[in-house]
Amino acid sequence: MRIVLPYLLFVLSTIWSGGELLAQEASFLRNETLRIDLVLSGNYSRQSAYIHRLQRYSGRFGSARQDCSPFDYGEYRYFLLHPVSGDTLFQRGFSTLFEEWRTTDEAREKQRAFQQTIEMPMPAEPVELRIESRRRNGTFFALLSESIDPEDPAVGHFIPEQHPYRTLHGGEQGERLDLLILAEGYRSEEQALFYQQATALSQELLQLEPFKSQQAHIRIRALAVPSRQSGPDDPRAGHWSATPMGSSFNTLGIDRYLETEETWLVYDHAAQLPHDHIIVLVNSDKYGGGGIYNHFSVVSGGHRYSGRVMIHELGHGLGGLGDEYYGADVAYNEFINLEIEPWQPNLTTLVDFDQKWKQMLEPSTPVPTPVRPMYQNTIGAFEGGGYVAKGVYRPALNCRMRTNEAKGFCAVCRHILTRKILFYAQ
Ligand SMILES: [Zn+2]
Repeated sequence: MRIVLPYLLFVLSTIWSGGELLAQEASFLRNETLRIDLVLSGNYSRQSAYIHRLQRYSGRFGSARQDCSPFDYGEYRYFLLHPVSGDTLFQRGFSTLFEEWRTTDEAREKQRAFQQTIEMPMPAEPVELRIESRRRNGTFFALLSESIDPEDPAVGHFIPEQHPYRTLHGGEQGERLDLLILAEGYRSEEQALFYQQATALSQELLQLEPFKSQQAHIRIRALAVPSRQSGPDDPRAGHWSATPMGSSFNTLGIDRYLETEETWLVYDHAAQLPHDHIIVLVNSDKYGGGGIYNHFSVVSGGHRYSGRVMIHELGHGLGGLGDEYYGADVAYNEFINLEIEPWQPNLTTLVDFDQKWKQMLEPSTPVPTPVRPMYQNTIGAFEGGGYVAKGVYRPALNCRMRTNEAKGFCAVCRHILTRKILFYAQ
């Protein structure tokens, strides 16, 4: 026992000082936002990340109480690490248009660079920034590791342009999920059209579960950024336009894929208002959109399905949900590795179904679940999803992550989205 006692004391003192450390770590992050603009470059087999610039905004965006995200979603993740203990002070996951491009045929022949922006609380003292990328086997490797000194004069104070905005839902006070809708391609004289379309889309969102029952935890603002010209680029139609955020159809060669590669411009405008998730609303009647996890979502405002598309893209951008469809025209090759569980929470390869939604199944539901009408309202594991017909399984016969005609999100997607909303709101 005498040999054990000093060890026990050592353990106790370690635990106690660990508590001290946690208190110190809380004061390590200021009520201010650090924005880091990155360049991601490479091809299908190689990639690099470079810091372009660091900037600060007053106020702190995102969930102030939960610095470490419990969601292990996204192809990338970033950390702020304590300089002495190496403990994680802040962490988030994200995905990029760059990594989607890396799976295309073009990436086998060409090299390209993409903009990316990540945001985090401003540290009070020098910390370590680490950005990691996910390997095909699901593990991560460090893509970039640098110390960040908040007192470095090169960390600029970003002063955003000021444009008119309206709060469409949720009032001004209280901790809520902040959705920020940015006007893209609406001239000053089209401001009324922007507010009208943003309002219609918001109302459709707030009528659908789980957003409907979580209304008290959501705030939606619409920021009327004026555009020199009307509408986005539409390369296949030969239409080019001068807009504040450079949106375009035909992203990655897919006509309906409406995105912008001018990520830094999107964040320049978003800096005016709090934003847990950004929705770029594009002035067009043509069907299209895109959503990338913890990056932003894009949708055209004037198509009869615009509300449904926005809701689907929010599933990607906010929820980290994967597409539950297959057989459609997409640019990606071998998007999901069938040897491991995909990180998308609503897709499974059944390699380790326990860590997905297996506990939500009735004991009598067979796995895999046959694609038959009798299972129409059943949570199961239906084959087909994640762009492939075989080897990837989805939670329901139909869901908004599968078709625009689905009544709503399946129970698994509703569950994930509810957790996401509450993550930001509490
Ligand atoms: Zn679903």
